[in-house]
Amino acid sequence: MALIVHKYGGTSMGSTERIRSVAQRVAKWARAGHQIVVVPSAMSGETNRLLGLAKELMPQADSAEAQRELDMIAATGEQVSVGLLALALQAQGQGAVSYTGWQVPVKTDSAYTKARIQSIDDARIRADLDAGRVVIVTGFQGIDSQGHITTLGRGGSDTSAVAVAAAMKADECLIYTDVDGVYTTDPRIVPEARRLATISFEEMLEMASLGSKVLQIRSVEFAGKYRVPMRVLSSFTPWDIDIAEEARSGTLITFEEDEKMEQAVVSGIAFNRDEAKVTVLGVPDRPGIAYSILGAVAEANIDVDVIIQNVSHDGKTDFSFTVHRNDYHRVLDLLNNKVAPSTGAASVTGDPKICKVSIVGIGMKSHVGVAARMFRTLSEEGINIQMISTSEIKTSVVIDEKYMELAVRALHKAFDLDAPLPA
Ligand code: ADP
Ligand code: ASP
Ligand code: MG
Repeated sequence: MALIVHKYGGTSMGSTERIRSVAQRVAKWARAGHQIVVVPSAMSGETNRLLGLAKELMPQADSAEAQRELDMIAATGEQVSVGLLALALQAQGQGAVSYTGWQVPVKTDSAYTKARIQSIDDARIRADLDAGRVVIVTGFQGIDSQGHITTLGRGGSDTSAVAVAAAMKADECLIYTDVDGVYTTDPRIVPEARRLATISFEEMLEMASLGSKVLQIRSVEFAGKYRVPMRVLSSFTPWDIDIAEEARSGTLITFEEDEKMEQAVVSGIAFNRDEAKVTVLGVPDRPGIAYSILGAVAEANIDVDVIIQNVSHDGKTDFSFTVHRNDYHRVLDLLNNKVAPSTGAASVTGDPKICKVSIVGIGMKSHVGVAARMFRTLSEEGINIQMISTSEIKTSVVIDEKYMELAVRALHKAFDLDAPLPA
């Protein structure tokens, strides 16, 4: 008997028909003698619908009071889906009970809309499991020390599931989704992308942080910190397939670097359309200039990603960086109204229509010339690179958004990711 956490995403929970199929799958695992905790997302489109309603009433909900209400509203999506799944299980004769984040409780900090989980009390869940029930816990939400409902950021149910698995020392966390594993890149963009049987934790962390939305980055961080065995697999296989076969399917996140038999130089390609670029032009090039620009941005709670400072001419330089596209107008206002006057910058420009494309692979640690191959491939396609950022196992470039798909496809091919795996 094992203790296993199942997570089902929005599409997997997308209709009562789908929920019935999830219930059949979960009941199959319970009948096989396992203790099962299920963490579902809201039904697909529901979180967008709820936040859309909020936006109609307050287009720019930036204040702490307003953000609290956004979480109050968004958290209801998951409350509906846990109740429906519990009913579907009971209707099949499988004992089941559902809990919201605050009932467990899943305690978080108070950063509304992007809260972090601090602790999970497993007593209630364990008592139900011991009584033979499947326990269903809402994804995406928690409660802060003041009793306010919080949410964990978009895609946060992945993190809820891994955190529950860590708290309960579960044997495995199975992330069921609408693809049958982690691919070399998003298969919606590159149909030739292939599924990886395993991916190292380090690579998965980079892929998630660089924009692969198959897993929320914090879920991967949690899995690494608490060594939670984690697998991404499909909820669209027939629910009654053999359990042993199902347990081996999908993509396993591994913690041992050398576990992979054949180590590709580049394992995957990630992309992110959520960023925007801003440039402060003609700033006096003197010590402290980066701090006067980025310090002000950090103080406004705006995260910065790729940064470039140009060589100076006549004592002046240009300074560019990227931010989340949601922060674009706010950062432009800040730069125009505060930073430019105080630093003596000549002007401020921006471009929200950029994207970041990244190649990721542990093999990059031991191979030279990988970044050069990336740049050559992009130049052959006539794609101009605006910014570059590298780490030990990734190289990212910022390019015009309109070339994103072309760049991803060309790189996928150039690094032999289109090729079928050796038999
Ligand atoms: P869920 O609702 O189950 O959480 P998501 O939509 O959040 O599902 O994540 C699954 C989607 O992630 C897939 O449908 C796919 O389009 C996208 N995706 C992006 N990059 C990858 C990748 N490298 N491998 C697999 N899927 C990816
Ligand atoms: N329902 C939330 C969202 O749409 C959380 C999740 O699906 O993981 O972002
Ligand atoms: Mg998701």
